[in-house]
Amino acid sequence: MNYRMNSKPAQTIIYGWKRKWLDWRLKIHLMQIALSCYKSWHEAIQVVRSLVRFKQTVNGHKNLRRCARTGSRYYFGPFIPGFPSSCFDRYIRTEFARFGNHHQPVNNLQVLQIAITSRCPLRCEHCFEWDNLNKEDPFSTEQLKYIIRKFREAGLAQVHLTGGEPLIKMDRVCELIRDGAPETEYYIYTSGCNLSLENARRLKEAGATGVIISLDHHAETEHNTFRGSERAYEYAINGVRNSAKAGLVMALSLCVTHRFLSLYNLDQYARLAKKMGVSFVQLLEPKATGHYANSAVTLRPDEIQLLENFYQYINQSPRYRNYPVFLYPGYHQRRVGCMMAGNRILYIDSAGKIDACPFCQNHAADARTLLNGKLQVTDIYTGPCPEFGTGLKTFAAEKLPRQKTTSNSYHGELKRKSMLSE
Ligand code: SF4
Repeated sequence: MNYRMNSKPAQTIIYGWKRKWLDWRLKIHLMQIALSCYKSWHEAIQVVRSLVRFKQTVNGHKNLRRCARTGSRYYFGPFIPGFPSSCFDRYIRTEFARFGNHHQPVNNLQVLQIAITSRCPLRCEHCFEWDNLNKEDPFSTEQLKYIIRKFREAGLAQVHLTGGEPLIKMDRVCELIRDGAPETEYYIYTSGCNLSLENARRLKEAGATGVIISLDHHAETEHNTFRGSERAYEYAINGVRNSAKAGLVMALSLCVTHRFLSLYNLDQYARLAKKMGVSFVQLLEPKATGHYANSAVTLRPDEIQLLENFYQYINQSPRYRNYPVFLYPGYHQRRVGCMMAGNRILYIDSAGKIDACPFCQNHAADARTLLNGKLQVTDIYTGPCPEFGTGLKTFAAEKLPRQKTTSNSYHGELKRKSMLSE
């Protein structure tokens, strides 16, 4: 099955002078937000610089990175709200609070990932929900609405709806999105199953921002084998095509296994992603959890090196300037620590357990206790990420005493905040 784009892509990759122009716009905007948060120009400049430096460490380079435009908004990744928007401003105010406390409203959590069903027609090799698949769903649509609303009331930038396959429950997905958009952004993690043109348009109309579609190989048979379904590739390819027509932000998610990892495969995959007109490609390292439990799937140091080199090259080389933006959480986790475990992102699995992340299934709490009021969202603590550390209690600004910024270093701030949340 060859991919053929039969309509103009809904998203454009922004690079070159347009990206530079956007960068100036952004810097001015960040300064405006900083000045509304801090009393002095000096403090505002320091905080903006700290954030820019932190982002450079996360991305792995100082050069401007390309970004994507869909409709009238610019997107830097599926975990950052589109710019310009009030959601983006609140996201930035929250990030500023990590470098210097202020009294402007901030989010308690940036992203809530919540599995809304355990139903799924696929049988993927790496599935982290394997033990929960196709069991009875713990929550009704109304209960899910209630839980998400609690997080939104405490301050939340984005909701990522996952599963199982969330699009098996189209009505539920649309109802959840309608309840919170546009103040909160909604993304859907999907294999592409049930992502027909009609459903893509329904998602857009309900207020969804985008979709993150799993595609684990550029070759059809390889992807189908990995996903345990002869139709998996068709689902993913058609899902991308339909999402483009509906005007949704599109990201691909790729689990980079030992078998896949070669420069040839990475290059072929990048070419396909460009041809499909997606904005982002997320590179995920396999973890020995779920269906992969007790398997030797962890990448070796030489494989990680190859992947890191590719990630930096494809995002910086002028040769690839109009390619999708590549994201690699493993890269920044090794440098700045984990951003999940309540430190920006939290995961509720399809059995209703609150986990540090989809891979670290530590079952820190049960989301049912949010329903009866025994647990408040601001009191959730998953413990630190077992692999990369830095898990922090989610925070609300009013809990933190006002203090001057004493350090420009992100690690210094993390240390300070860990002490405050003890
Ligand atoms: S990884 Fe996702 S699509 Fe695959 S079986 Fe698990 S829930 Fe289904």
